[in-house]
Amino acid sequence: MGFLKISHIAIAVENLEVAKKAFEALTGNKVEVVEDVPDQRVCVGMLPVGESRLELAGPTDPSSTIAKFIEKRGEGVHHICFEVEDIKAELTRLKSAGFQLIDEQPRLGADGHLIAFIHPRTTGGVLVELSEKMK
Ligand code: ZN
Repeated sequence: MGFLKISHIAIAVENLEVAKKAFEALTGNKVEVVEDVPDQRVCVGMLPVGESRLELAGPTDPSSTIAKFIEKRGEGVHHICFEVEDIKAELTRLKSAGFQLIDEQPRLGADGHLIAFIHPRTTGGVLVELSEKMK
């Protein structure tokens, strides 16, 4: 067990089009997928970097959590996502180790993944996401 790799680093951006250009220029790579996530009221652009990727997340509505994050802290790193083999087992392990889970049960994320979030209070101020690719 243990985390397998960094799946993605999510960056909260005010304007996805502007950020897309900036991060494409920075990395020399292209945003491959742009996906609306209506239930979180964000639009995300996935920019591959090696075996990980940057997830540029721009709010589509002022009520989205990304919009509130930017309002409070400005643009910047929003969360780090680790890929895991068995998300349920990891959640059980982390809970018993004293980490505060935002999602007690994994839920359906984008692109055929099960995801869950760990509260930044117990992870050095960094919002942590776990992700398991569904087979
Ligand atoms: Zn994510």
